[in-house]
Amino acid sequence: MWPLNAILIVASLSVWVFVGFSLLKRYRYATRLFDMLRTYPFLVLISLALFAIGTYNLLYLIASILLTGIAGLLVCPFLLYHSLRWINDYNYTKFRKLLEKISSEGFAVLLFEDYNNDKLDSGKVNVFIRHDVDISLKRIKKMAALEKSMGTKSTYFFRLHAERYNFEEAVPIIKELSQEGFAIGLHYETLSVAAGDREKAIQIFTRDIERIREVAPMLVVAAHGQKGYNNRDIWEDVDKKTLQISSAYDMKNDMYLSDAGGKSLRDKNGNYLFDRIYEAKPGQVVQILIHPDWWT
Ligand SMILES: [Zn+2]
Repeated sequence: MWPLNAILIVASLSVWVFVGFSLLKRYRYATRLFDMLRTYPFLVLISLALFAIGTYNLLYLIASILLTGIAGLLVCPFLLYHSLRWINDYNYTKFRKLLEKISSEGFAVLLFEDYNNDKLDSGKVNVFIRHDVDISLKRIKKMAALEKSMGTKSTYFFRLHAERYNFEEAVPIIKELSQEGFAIGLHYETLSVAAGDREKAIQIFTRDIERIREVAPMLVVAAHGQKGYNNRDIWEDVDKKTLQISSAYDMKNDMYLSDAGGKSLRDKNGNYLFDRIYEAKPGQVVQILIHPDWWT
């Protein structure tokens, strides 16, 4: 019986390792699946408790094997299937493939300022890559390095009121990206910061623009999705002309490919979201939103 018990313990501990790993990587922000992980520790605890009792009583031992076995059979394939697919979809190999495609003939990779200056290429698919830096500054480096090596341009949108990084930490990264030819944007959330006070929100918004412009040129903003307030609401009250600012949400996209929510990059037929780029036609505008936080 001992090898089987050992397997049960190893299986239980593996779940813990997986939970720890996913928390460390903050995958729990990205998908409903990983939110469900909260239930797994209880499952593991139950299996361990039953196992402990089981070693002293044959009946409990059989019950524990049955219960953990059934739980394992139900949970593990599901967990494995979804986590493997998730890791496979939010993968740098896939991102590289996308970059290769848009680097090929027939595509023009542009910056948001090009859109506002009417620099669209009617003979090519016009692609605009947007990165919202929501959680971590660490993930930017790898993404930017790959884009640089492929010769593609993109815009990194930074928050000034993020929970997990502060603006001072972002300053050297913003400077570096800007010097390397990437564009910088403001990922604003000022209505949330001002707790719904629109006037105050616009004051903070204006100050945030000034702060970021002290570091690098910045011409475009995009609202961050925050629970409680719709940060996009203030946009109609913003004096865009005086501030010389545009919003990524004002772009008239023919195609908008976004990994927002981080739940799944597949439609109900199992097709990969970013493969839709193959359907884009010359003259069209495609905005691609990718959160570096979720790619591995
Ligand atoms: Zn965001």
